[in-house]
Amino acid sequence: MGTPTERRELLKTVYAEAKRCVACPLHETRTNVVFGAGNADAELMFVGEAPGANEDLQGLPFVGAAGKLLDKLLGEIGMDRKDVWICNTIKCRPPGNRDPYPHELDSCRHFLFSQLELIQPTMICTLGNFATKLLRDDPAGISRIHGQVEVRTIGPRAVRLYPLYHPAAALYTPSTLEMLRADFLRIPEILKLGPPPQPDPQPIPEVAAQPPLQPGPQPIPEAAPEPPLQPDREPPVSDQQLGLF
Ligand code: URA
Repeated sequence: MGTPTERRELLKTVYAEAKRCVACPLHETRTNVVFGAGNADAELMFVGEAPGANEDLQGLPFVGAAGKLLDKLLGEIGMDRKDVWICNTIKCRPPGNRDPYPHELDSCRHFLFSQLELIQPTMICTLGNFATKLLRDDPAGISRIHGQVEVRTIGPRAVRLYPLYHPAAALYTPSTLEMLRADFLRIPEILKLGPPPQPDPQPIPEVAAQPPLQPGPQPIPEAAPEPPLQPDREPPVSDQQLGLF
């Protein structure tokens, strides 16, 4: 779907849409929408849970203590943020860092799926239970399935899905950190497998045949009133604002 430049521009359009989103009550308490950041053409995508206080203030994902650990683990496999895309299941901070509610996950998931379609990663690391359950569409918990790579079709694309412990869970529990680090060290070998085979494109449904035109005068449908023109108040999204490399 499009050249990398076209997909990058579309990603900025989706970001602009997310910044205006009022689909769930989290828009009332957010400082910033935390859309995601990194390489818009990344092979590897990380999906965390939800922005915390630091992320909400800066508008960027994983900039607090868990993010520092993520940076460290990336460094240990010779990568950094400009090689990957990092985002969350929901784009606005739940007050007090509570867990996301189901209706918040539901109303926000299309942003994540758009990111998937536009960035086209070959591999997704889900960080923790929320992202893992959402993208696998299955209630299996992270302690049972972390480190088990599988090919999953998400929307129109097949990816290698690799569930990992959330870095925040590893911050104060050394045994979790060891498991997270061991799983992380396998990322390069999984990336080397390349993209998984893609599903056949879905056939475009046939448009139902139009009924033949009736002779005689046709009723003129009433035109809906035009909405008043809105001045274009939104400035264009810059690469820096989105944290794009
Ligand atoms: N935890 C997350 O799940 N996401 C962030 O962006 C930061 C912390």
